[in-house]
Amino acid sequence: MSDTEHLDLQSVLDDIHAAVEPRRGEGKVADYIPQLARIDPKRFGMAIVTVDGQVFSVGDAAIPFSIQSISKVFTLTLALGKHGERLWKRVGREPSGSAFNSIVQLEHEGGKPRNPFINAGAITISDLILAGHTPREVIGEILRFMRMLADDEDISIDPQVAKSEAATGFRNAALANFMRSFGKLDHPVEHVLGVYFHHCAIAMTCVQLAKAGLFLANNGQQPGTGHSIVSRQRARRINALMLTCGHYDGSGDFAYHVGLPGKSGVGGGIMAVAPGKASVAVWSPGLNENGNSQLGSVALEMLANRTGWSVFGA
Ligand code: GLU
Repeated sequence: MSDTEHLDLQSVLDDIHAAVEPRRGEGKVADYIPQLARIDPKRFGMAIVTVDGQVFSVGDAAIPFSIQSISKVFTLTLALGKHGERLWKRVGREPSGSAFNSIVQLEHEGGKPRNPFINAGAITISDLILAGHTPREVIGEILRFMRMLADDEDISIDPQVAKSEAATGFRNAALANFMRSFGKLDHPVEHVLGVYFHHCAIAMTCVQLAKAGLFLANNGQQPGTGHSIVSRQRARRINALMLTCGHYDGSGDFAYHVGLPGKSGVGGGIMAVAPGKASVAVWSPGLNENGNSQLGSVALEMLANRTGWSVFGA
């Protein structure tokens, strides 16, 4: 019997859905681009994929949403594949303690971002993936990676979101130019930002996202195909980074309440990993004061309480 078989995960999801129902619409939807501002704040979806291949879902789990910063987990995975541990010469591994798009920290640390999940760090990761490739090739590679992981060719990039990100991404352009001024980017700023804006604009459903994250719950292996995506050690390390840095300035709070490695995005999605057990994705567009999905966090806390999946103990 597998670790998850004694749990009736569908009824756990149904209970969570019923509990959040009266609270739908809580939080504040991201409004820095119109494509996100117009999303129905009442959306709620959640999916669990277990390491033995069972899929459970509830609510709007089959509706694609903008994964935004959750994509940073996957670009980090690709960049580690290309550069290995040398990558850490360019990006740190510490929680930032300042806003996800802060420029201040960069000045103090000579243009080296604190971790791969704040914007400056993810922009550096885009620069690293570009080595030897054009932006178009790299964007295609990221998309193929997501499709392979989720085993779903339907995943795509929302071109309107990518365009709006580029049209309004003054802060990200400032971060990239600032790093370039320290000699910290190898490629033209516009190429690097092109990659960054496009991976943020990937649209996925909760089910697709939970499937894509499953290798992180399964020691780096994709359970369905047996493919090794990353080594066991690397999966553990990516999970450690998600736990410490995955929720902007709310990472400590998320660890306290949920206790799972996770990554959130301003589109209202959160992907969480229960090592050895399952990968989970939740989507509810309203954000809390730290920019993390308000009900998504609540739902994951309920899930952790019901399943005992917290990495800190049941
Ligand atoms: N595209 C967004 C930005 O760079 C991503 C924000 C996020 O999800 O944290 O501002």
